[in-house]
Amino acid sequence: MNNTSNLRIACVMVGLPARGKTYISSKGKYLTWLGIKTQIFSVGNYRRKLAGLNLPHTFFDMHNEEAVKKRHEAAAIALNDMIQWFSKEEGIVGILDATNSTKKARAWINEELTGRNVQVLFIESICDDENIILHNIKDVKLSSPDYCNQDPEAATEDFIKRIGHYEACYETITEQDLTYIKLINVGSQYIINMIRGYLESRIVYYLMNLHTRPKRIWFSRHGESLFNLDDKIGGDAGLSPRGEQYALKLPELVKQNIGERPLTVWTSSMTRTIQTARHLPFPKKQWKALDELDTGLKYPEDFARRDEDKFNYRYRGGESYRDLVLRLEPVIMDLERHENILIISHQATIRCMYAYFMGLSHDELPYARIPLHTIIELKPKAFSCEEKLYKVDVGAVDTFRPKGQMARRLTNDQFVSSTISPSQEGASGEIVDANNSILPVTPVSVAPC
Ligand code: ADP
Ligand code: PEP
Repeated sequence: MNNTSNLRIACVMVGLPARGKTYISSKGKYLTWLGIKTQIFSVGNYRRKLAGLNLPHTFFDMHNEEAVKKRHEAAAIALNDMIQWFSKEEGIVGILDATNSTKKARAWINEELTGRNVQVLFIESICDDENIILHNIKDVKLSSPDYCNQDPEAATEDFIKRIGHYEACYETITEQDLTYIKLINVGSQYIINMIRGYLESRIVYYLMNLHTRPKRIWFSRHGESLFNLDDKIGGDAGLSPRGEQYALKLPELVKQNIGERPLTVWTSSMTRTIQTARHLPFPKKQWKALDELDTGLKYPEDFARRDEDKFNYRYRGGESYRDLVLRLEPVIMDLERHENILIISHQATIRCMYAYFMGLSHDELPYARIPLHTIIELKPKAFSCEEKLYKVDVGAVDTFRPKGQMARRLTNDQFVSSTISPSQEGASGEIVDANNSILPVTPVSVAPC
């Protein structure tokens, strides 16, 4: 997905207000997470800067000539900023969030972009379900800066009138020479035209996996493992006695906090996650893609380098966080499609998935705190994600290592030290391969993933 050379794609939203265009645009975080440079250009934000907040519906009347001029100006600045971003910042996917509801508007955008060698993918959201539209208005529009400090009923009425102005001149895409996907009634139908190349197909496939039903995702690391006790990484150890206690308590924790919903449990293919899940009375699926980051062979001199750029650092003969993100992409795709999944996996893999949902940057991702013996509940909302932690009262080592800690140890020559308590990450330990064999290399400070 990274090897996109000179490819530049503009995803241009099309649709009446309250059809989920901003929501779909915000899903550009999927591409950012994969390492594809992506940016959203919201015409609404440019319009607010130019014309101010709290504009009445009459501002969106197509007969209001002065306002039409301002709105066109906002669109032109947004488009120009996107073009500059493609050329000056080597952007790969730009997302233009606007209504683009007439053929004339689309023809203009298409010409400006294709003339500069940018592929254009129009994404039209069509929805004629009044309940969904009303829900959308209440879900996001009343809290938008367009209606700050306004009475919710008056704001809803105004927004419905705003939609009316757009309906008066709306033209659904019929231009067969354009590349587009139409999303109809939130995933009940798709129409796809002239999709070109790998990245466009990935975007289209991703869009086809989105839904808006309420959902929650739960993450848990495996219970404390025998290797966690010794600060060893790699290998395929079983659970420690405290890890076993966590596994035994997990069904009750799930019942109390997750309730009686039908759950599916996904584990990795490693012993410690399978053992952790084994008392849970739910259907289970093992994913090799959920296995822990492969730490290959480890060399002491590599650890300082790893801290310089932990996301991109690839263990010799093993993996980097960047590799892991690519490995986890099908899991994310399935998580978007499903509801109510409990994932029992590992520190590094959960960090990657957590970063996707919480919008963490690649710099933040490798340092996300994913403690042992804790369930992390994520509840995605339209433009954010709520998080709750459920802890079990069973002690466990703390495998978190703040940035810089290892580098300091290395410079202080402290990295092989039996005095560092197991609760401090980075104590010494053997290096273990996937078959639990101790590898014949110098013992080094063993940084958990
Ligand atoms: P717009 O940008 O089109 O004015 P928003 O993105 O601000 O609309 O609306 C967000 C709401 O739209 C959310 O409540 C979300 O659940 C909903 N939504 C997301 N996707 C769709 C879709 N394909 N069709 C209709 N509504 C959607
Ligand atoms: C807006 O102003 O909120 C907007 C989306 O702009 P337009 O309808 O002109 O695309």
